Amino acid sequence: MQGIIIKGIGGFYYVKSEDKIIECKARGKFRHNELSPMVGDEVEIKEKNGKGVIEDIYERKNMLIRPSVANVTQALVVFAIKNPDINEDLLNRFLMLCEFNKLDIIVCFNKTDLIDCIHENEVVNMIKSAGYKVMFLKAKEGEGIEELRDYLDGNVTVLCGPSGVGKSTIINTLAGKNLMETGNISEKLKRGKHTTRHSELLQIGKGFIVDTPGFSSLDTSFIDKEDVQDCFPEFHDYLGECKFNSCLHYKEPSCAIKKEVENGNINSKRYDFYVKIIEEVSQKKSYKGGDGR
Ligand code: GDP
Ligand code: ZN
Repeated sequence: MQGIIIKGIGGFYYVKSEDKIIECKARGKFRHNELSPMVGDEVEIKEKNGKGVIEDIYERKNMLIRPSVANVTQALVVFAIKNPDINEDLLNRFLMLCEFNKLDIIVCFNKTDLIDCIHENEVVNMIKSAGYKVMFLKAKEGEGIEELRDYLDGNVTVLCGPSGVGKSTIINTLAGKNLMETGNISEKLKRGKHTTRHSELLQIGKGFIVDTPGFSSLDTSFIDKEDVQDCFPEFHDYLGECKFNSCLHYKEPSCAIKKEVENGNINSKRYDFYVKIIEEVSQKKSYKGGDGR
């Protein structure tokens, strides 16, 4: 019988198969292979008297480290249009890490009830110009949530974004119950929100959401400088048109990417961010700022 691990606690794995959840142990062979089952794994199980054993783990499509979840297909990168103000650098870093992990990306701008007009927003336009799918939400009022629901079907979705932007509110509204604590950061800290805990998959419709917000570390220094360009979808059409095959679109002459920045086809702020990352990874300098809870 096939299923997906939605939770792991103290050596037990909870596998959702068809319409039930079966408590399973892993076979000893996984320990010998140094492969341990993780949340998100698609597994083959054998069930007997209501208890299960994980016999096999299907090949993982990918594996996030923090949160530790396999087979994530999609990221909702959530920022508030205001309260807190958008940190552009952080937004670009989230996008980059999602690209690096080959996730489909939807950028959600929440709290749009706090402003009059969204269309003149520079950050929104920058994100759109990079080709990203953008959604506007008023999570507290439930606006945009139904449209979001459609994108969840068939996916394992992780929510990424800084504290206070409305990720918990989005999850609660989608789930139709209060699974996550909401509120301002100091209130959450007081309630011990930030104690270490394991990720769990929450079923929403025909998909799953990871209940811990994505990427607790926004370190990008592990990325090779040659791979950074692949994390910028708006570069894609022009790669290979530079004079040098090994062009990093930095200080090289006759660079197609730089030409498109000058032409206005690539957003110059996104290009500046690209250069910043190239300089960072060249020095293997790690990123310490920000809060990517
Ligand atoms: P998280 O830290 O990203 O999980 O954010 P929360 O879901 O805890 O939300 C932080 C605060 O923003 C809470 O006080 C929410 O009530 C508020 N909030 C969430 N969504 C909206 C929204 O659409 N509009 C407004 N004005 N506030 C919101
Ligand atoms: Zn180039």
